[in-house]
Amino acid sequence: MATMITEECINCGACEPECPNTAIYQGGVEWEMDGAKNPALAAEVFYIVPEKCTECVGFFDQEACAAVCPVDVCIPNPDIPETEAQLLERAKQLHPGTDFGSDFPSRFREEGGETAAPAAAPAADAAAAPAAAPVAAAPVAVAGPALNLPAVDTWDIPLDCHACGGSYSVLFQHLRSGAVLRCPYCKSQYIVTTSLHNQVGKVLRDFHARWTEAFEELRERRQRELDEFEARQKAELEEVNERVRSLSESVLAPGAPKKRAWIFG
Ligand code: SF4
Ligand code: SF4
Repeated sequence: MATMITEECINCGACEPECPNTAIYQGGVEWEMDGAKNPALAAEVFYIVPEKCTECVGFFDQEACAAVCPVDVCIPNPDIPETEAQLLERAKQLHPGTDFGSDFPSRFREEGGETAAPAAAPAADAAAAPAAAPVAAAPVAVAGPALNLPAVDTWDIPLDCHACGGSYSVLFQHLRSGAVLRCPYCKSQYIVTTSLHNQVGKVLRDFHARWTEAFEELRERRQRELDEFEARQKAELEEVNERVRSLSESVLAPGAPKKRAWIFG
């Protein structure tokens, strides 16, 4: 889907020079393509021309405008879903002399290999169930042999509605760029931004990696300690058996049988 700028734009102008496709224009300024001028798409704030936006596919692994926007108003347009292949094709048309190769930068790859365009409102109702409290950050016991930690995609992300302040949560797998979330209390919509998705994903993945590493270290340490304990116990048992054997051989009770039956060993 093309990126769009919302009405909350503060006209700082930081995004415009970052666009590799000159798809961003100041409000009220005509946009150009193939030498033709076209009416401005917005009067008051900066805007993006969908026909020129590739979501930076072919150039960067994230939307350059979203990366610099200080107020986070460069967001995926849920009304224009497009695949990575469509966006790459647009990049080729806009830059006919450029060879993008097969290893071109793309925010789809950065997000984990997603190549299909998200639906216009993929998580709206599925994500709308209110939750009393997020379970993602709940402490996890290292009691069993398995790593009892939620997968990143199934992590509950707590959200506060910007309109009514109600708290609800969605699974991280629903917090995709451009997904439209709907508050279960007041039905206000919220479009997930790429930067929010990336930042939350990074926090979760980093924590998951640290947690997994710490758990593995703990498990290996415990196994080592158990092995050492068993070795000590075995050696001590053999020593005790040997002492008992020596004692029984040194003491011959009257009428003792010629052949002894060992208790141990
Ligand atoms: S996402 Fe990339 S191509 Fe689209 S307007 Fe922003 S900077 Fe330009
Ligand atoms: S960087 Fe953000 S706030 Fe600044 S002009 Fe671009 S969209 Fe508007």
